[in-house]
Amino acid sequence: MIKAIKGTKDLLPADNPRWRFLEETVRRIFENFNYREIRTPIFEETALFARSIGEETDIVSKEMYTFTDKGGTSITLKPEMTAGVVRAYVEHSLGSQHPVTKLYYISPMFRQERPQAGRFRQFHQFGAEAIGSSSPVLDGEIIQTAYDILKALGLQDLTVKINSLGVPADRENYKQLLRNYLNDKKDKLTEDSRKRFDKNILRIFDSKAESDQELIKNAPMLIDHINDESKNDFEVVKEYLSKVNIPFEVDPKLVRGLDYYTKTTFEIISGKVGSQSALCGGGRYDLLIEQLGGKPTPGVGFAAGMERILLACENENSFTVDEPAIDVYIIRIDKELGLEVSAIASQLRRKNFTVDYDYLQRSVKAQMREANKLNAKYTLFIGGDEYKNGMINLKNMETGEQTNLPINDLSRVIDNLKA
Ligand code: AMP
Repeated sequence: MIKAIKGTKDLLPADNPRWRFLEETVRRIFENFNYREIRTPIFEETALFARSIGEETDIVSKEMYTFTDKGGTSITLKPEMTAGVVRAYVEHSLGSQHPVTKLYYISPMFRQERPQAGRFRQFHQFGAEAIGSSSPVLDGEIIQTAYDILKALGLQDLTVKINSLGVPADRENYKQLLRNYLNDKKDKLTEDSRKRFDKNILRIFDSKAESDQELIKNAPMLIDHINDESKNDFEVVKEYLSKVNIPFEVDPKLVRGLDYYTKTTFEIISGKVGSQSALCGGGRYDLLIEQLGGKPTPGVGFAAGMERILLACENENSFTVDEPAIDVYIIRIDKELGLEVSAIASQLRRKNFTVDYDYLQRSVKAQMREANKLNAKYTLFIGGDEYKNGMINLKNMETGEQTNLPINDLSRVIDNLKA
């Protein structure tokens, strides 16, 4: 038997009410902040991701689903959304319509990582990109949208961590400082971190190994070596968060893996999802748009992992959704009335009621059981003597009340359903 691919997951009917509640919350809150939805293709030219995310990152070096299509083009399934959104922003000159373009998305993503709790190969993210302003107010706003969505889902155990990476020149100078600091400790680093030392030294801070953490504990921190503009902007972000009542921690070790970040970075952590605890992460990327062929344009954004958020919601029991229910289940008393039942169902469905009935010629008892299983608010009985007299019987399943109504005037049934 063929099974779903490792690291992918079917979202079954029983799962989807929670997913839909999440998606509706995401849309409502982004739209309150006047972010508009963007949908980009599932796949892009590989070069887009290589150029924006950076060759040295785990995503590009190890995790992308890349293949050559029949035309010989190297294609990659999107591992994240910012690159595609920025490509679309430049390609369609979105900036010429609104000087600040605020976009949001909900989309599947693909990364060939080792599957584990909270880590999948196809997973889903929602997120936002605000392009066209370097104002740190927008950094604050972006963090707020993420936080407000998580709060609206009822999550309590959240920590907002923020940091500033300064501008690239700050980072280059700092990398040298860090290299000098770690140079004589290099042999004690784990193998992974030794590789990072050469390729992407900042990422040593992401190491989970305690021995690495011990070695970098007293290292110089980037936040102490950023320029004045970055410092001022960071102060504004902090003030913004305080004004909108968002508690936060400054975490100087929060450097994030992607090359295109500048100034503000942030993550929101849940205390309820185990080791993969980051629900979302993002920050400012003032150089990316130029890097992808646009005019120099600042931007800021974030991405949030939806599987992980739903896991946190489950573990905190943070929201409940209504059991699915239908309006009417039609019960056929006489077997030969099958098409009559279909005709009534179709009239009610066209009036926007959720209606179902039996397709298996089952007994009245079996149909009643099915009506209960489907949580029907009403059952409509068709057949027997009543039917011969031109009547049908509508039963309110909650109160047990039954009403006889003429079959040739369904508006009476509809009035009852609406009441
Ligand atoms: P990133 O784009 O790596 O900054 O990830 C943003 C968020 O997406 C993370 O905080 C996670 O919640 C989620 N995420 C990233 N990778 C995965 C994955 N492989 N499976 C599930 N969620 C993920």
